[in-house]
Amino acid sequence: MSLATFNDPTREELQLLASTVTEVPTTSLYGTIHNSLVLSHVIPYLSISSILSLAATNRAFRELLFSTPGVFRHLDLTHIKALKFEIDKIDHGGEVWRNVQLDENVTEDDFYSGPLRGILSTLKRQHILENVQTLVLDGLSVTSELCHDIINDAAFNVRVLSIRDVKNLNQAKLRQALQYACRPTRRAGSPKLKALYVFGSRDVLAAAKPSGPSASSISTEWNKKSQTALASSLKQEGDAWWHKKGRIIPRPVSQEWANCLLACRGIIAFDAVLCQGPRHRNSPVYKGGSDADSAPAVATYALSGCENCHKAPEGFTYPSGISPDASLPLLAPLPLLSSSLRAATTPKDADTSFVPRCMDCIRERYCTSCNKWWCESCYDFSGQSSSGHYATQIAIVDDDTVNDFGDLDLEVPTMKVKVRNGLCHPCTLTRAQEEENDKSGP
Ligand SMILES: [Zn+2]
Ligand SMILES: [Zn+2]
Ligand SMILES: [Zn+2]
Repeated sequence: MSLATFNDPTREELQLLASTVTEVPTTSLYGTIHNSLVLSHVIPYLSISSILSLAATNRAFRELLFSTPGVFRHLDLTHIKALKFEIDKIDHGGEVWRNVQLDENVTEDDFYSGPLRGILSTLKRQHILENVQTLVLDGLSVTSELCHDIINDAAFNVRVLSIRDVKNLNQAKLRQALQYACRPTRRAGSPKLKALYVFGSRDVLAAAKPSGPSASSISTEWNKKSQTALASSLKQEGDAWWHKKGRIIPRPVSQEWANCLLACRGIIAFDAVLCQGPRHRNSPVYKGGSDADSAPAVATYALSGCENCHKAPEGFTYPSGISPDASLPLLAPLPLLSSSLRAATTPKDADTSFVPRCMDCIRERYCTSCNKWWCESCYDFSGQSSSGHYATQIAIVDDDTVNDFGDLDLEVPTMKVKVRNGLCHPCTLTRAQEEENDKSGP
């Protein structure tokens, strides 16, 4: 705990600066943040409204903030009051909704992304937008047309875009915009977008941010943010995929998204990756098979090595440097101090790996209780071949008269059933014992 408190220079600086604001004249604050290292570590923790308020203090601050590269690199608009206010009014059928309905020239995009477009065009006029490399719009009203512009319009230089839990987004049109951006005939160096957060839920840290200087002073904001960052780091459970194993993406992801990830492969990274199981045609160990079964699928599970061979037929996914950055899943929370793909994909623990798999590839192979699984090379159960394809004639495995895993007679005599009803043999016994205890309990 003490390590997390004292060894992080960012937080030490934040605390120092937070007390500086209230105790010494403004010139000292200027002197402190005039150090570009300090400034670059503090700025990402401030909302755009706070930065602009600071810039409005006097000419020196304005010049410092507008002339230092990277000050507007990370733009989080999720806490702009005006954006939430407008959306709430729309949602509740208030005054704005009725007024806008009267104007027949207003398009659906104008209507739903109007407030956000208004702010973005103000930032563009002030030459702030062109410097934004990370744009966080989680939970706001964001249309696919706006996403198309952010991805394809020259006015934007966004490398990392986060649109988790957004409202009014047409996902099919978003996929079209992404596939257009990654088309084989695209311009060299395009698209600028390298990372798209869209599948996960918005960061808890971001959701706890206060709304800006109108609601509280900058010093209070810094204090709150340093506390939130500390609380978040203390309860950090490790990175999804790399550290946490088992089900990572709770909702099923459509085939259309899997096709889109394949079309964007190596160009735009997502907060999800494709399953590389041998039955998929995008797998490095694909050996051919029926077309319907070989379609790409988004991995919803992260696994360790197979329980028997400690490997996987397709190999492991390793951190940056071994596996290509663009093939790695984006990690949450979003990186604050950098807008690089590497920062967004590098896990805290460098000595780690995982196997991304879709549910269909681990059905009857994976125990949902202890996360163990048996790979296609080690376990060729009736109904699924070693290439992972399901045979057209599926032998009856689910025979109710057979209770013992080991007694089930499969075509390969030495093979014993590893997983039944989602549980391995030891976990089935444990579950049965627990149920027995519950029945005989007081
Ligand atoms: Zn194995
Ligand atoms: Zn799969
Ligand atoms: Zn188990």
